[in-house]
Amino acid sequence: MTCIFCEKTDNLFENDLAKAFFDKFPASKGHILIVPRRHVPDYFGLTNEEHAAVQELLTKSKCYLDDQFAPDGYNIGANVGQAGGQTVFHCHIHLIPRYAGDCPEPAGGVRGAIPGKQTYQQRGL
Ligand code: 5GP
Ligand code: ZN
Repeated sequence: MTCIFCEKTDNLFENDLAKAFFDKFPASKGHILIVPRRHVPDYFGLTNEEHAAVQELLTKSKCYLDDQFAPDGYNIGANVGQAGGQTVFHCHIHLIPRYAGDCPEPAGGVRGAIPGKQTYQQRGL
C-alpha cells in the first residue's frame, strides 16, 4: 500500500511519533498538517503517546506561523470519515492560519464544515 503521508519526508518539524509539513493545496498562507508517523486512518486511532507527540508539533507549528506570517487567528481541525470530509486516510490535523478579512464572515469558523450552519443565533442562556 502506498500512502502520501507515510512517504512524506520534507517535514517542517518532527519528533519520534509525529511529523508536520505544509499542505500541498493550502486553504490559507501557511496551512500545516500534523500527522502521526504510524499509518492510522483517523484521529480517533491515536494512542495517548501519539496525541502528545502531535500536540507538541501543533504548538511548535503555531509558534512558527506566528513568527513567519503573524496570522490573526487559527482553525484547528480533523476531518474524520468520508461523511466528515476526510480525503486522505492517514490521520492528520489541519492547522489553518486565519487572516483578518480573509473571508466576509468568519464567525462560526469550523461550523462552516456544514454549509449554511457556520453562524448561529444565540437564544437566551
Ligand atoms: P482531508 O480532506 O483528508 O482532511 O485533508 C487532506 C489534505 O491533504 C488536504 O488539505 C490536501 O490539500 C492535502 N494534500 C493532499 N495531497 C497532498 C500531498 O501530496 N502533499 C501534501 N503536503 N498535502 C496534500
Ligand atoms: Zn499512511
